[in-house]
Amino acid sequence: MTEKINDKLEGRETMTIPVVDRRYQMTETKKAKEIIERAMNLAREEIPKGAVATYIPELGKEDPHQLGICLYPLKGDKICLGDYNHRFTMQSVSKVVMLIVALEVCGLKNVFKKVGMEPSGEAFDSLVELDVSDSKPYNPLINSGALAVCGLLLPEVSFQDMLRYTRNICSDPGIELNESVFDSEMKTCSRNRSIAYLLESKGIITTDVEDTLRFYTKMCSMNVTAESLANLGKKLANDGVCAITGKRFMSSRTARIVKTLMLTCGMYDGSGTFAIKVGIPTKSGVGGGLLSVSDKRAGIGVFGPALDARGNSIAGCKLLREISNQLRLNLFYDPEWDKEQEEDQSEETVLKEMQAKSVM
Ligand code: GLN
Repeated sequence: MTEKINDKLEGRETMTIPVVDRRYQMTETKKAKEIIERAMNLAREEIPKGAVATYIPELGKEDPHQLGICLYPLKGDKICLGDYNHRFTMQSVSKVVMLIVALEVCGLKNVFKKVGMEPSGEAFDSLVELDVSDSKPYNPLINSGALAVCGLLLPEVSFQDMLRYTRNICSDPGIELNESVFDSEMKTCSRNRSIAYLLESKGIITTDVEDTLRFYTKMCSMNVTAESLANLGKKLANDGVCAITGKRFMSSRTARIVKTLMLTCGMYDGSGTFAIKVGIPTKSGVGGGLLSVSDKRAGIGVFGPALDARGNSIAGCKLLREISNQLRLNLFYDPEWDKEQEEDQSEETVLKEMQAKSVM
């Protein structure tokens, strides 16, 4: 055994330590744009493997072929491509906003009394962990956790306050409640309703359950664009401060907690794989949105409504994966990574998985 370890590790030839050029390439806008354009073409090939969400019937009307991105560096020009200004509902990306406001308004201790900080390894709308005594939702970025957070927020802020804050942090006064998506989800949200009542039975939600559910669903139904998500991501990347106006939107501690949870829990039961393949803290939503934060570098918003089996944008994930290393946005940037042979899931497996799940 020891010999094997020696062969593998110690026995390697000594290499000259490569000097990793960590200079951020986003200042070269033209080059970055070309890289992103190429990545978009590759990402579009993934679209037929996914499907738009239909469990909220109104979302099923979205054209699955759309794809857009906005990358907004802290220094340098904003890059907007494809359907970057198409409006879609924020869905679970709004869990980031709920968490920011809850941490700011209710405080860290109160938030983490109600929810944990651990990845769940379960689907976003899972109830399994809740029927165990003493348990609380794994984290604030899954449905159960966000519903618990809404229970905390409800006595403190109104939906109008949240809408105003979202417009400001996204630098997008055009964000509105999408009434049709809201009505559609309220008619079909029996899973979320069950989660909310279970949380009430455990004393985690102490507010009116139906009001809490409506508040949560309204937050999910806010209409954003990839560009508005990039604006939000840029503020998170800059530790909670707008790089242009200097206005602070949250404490740097809140920004750090949110980014960490996005990295570990933002893509539900796909979070670990995404962290390895992409390495950029990201939060997804079933409307097709992805909010990514390349810390101290850029905010990124992506829109691609065709989803994979876990409810994450299939082309959006591919797009981020393609650009993360080339633009050195990966938290753990590795200059050798491109040479690695990554094993992709075959198309067949992805489709089978999707048929087996309720997301489609
Ligand atoms: N509104 C959706 C739900 O609660 C959000 C889920 C998601 O985006 N993953 O089911």
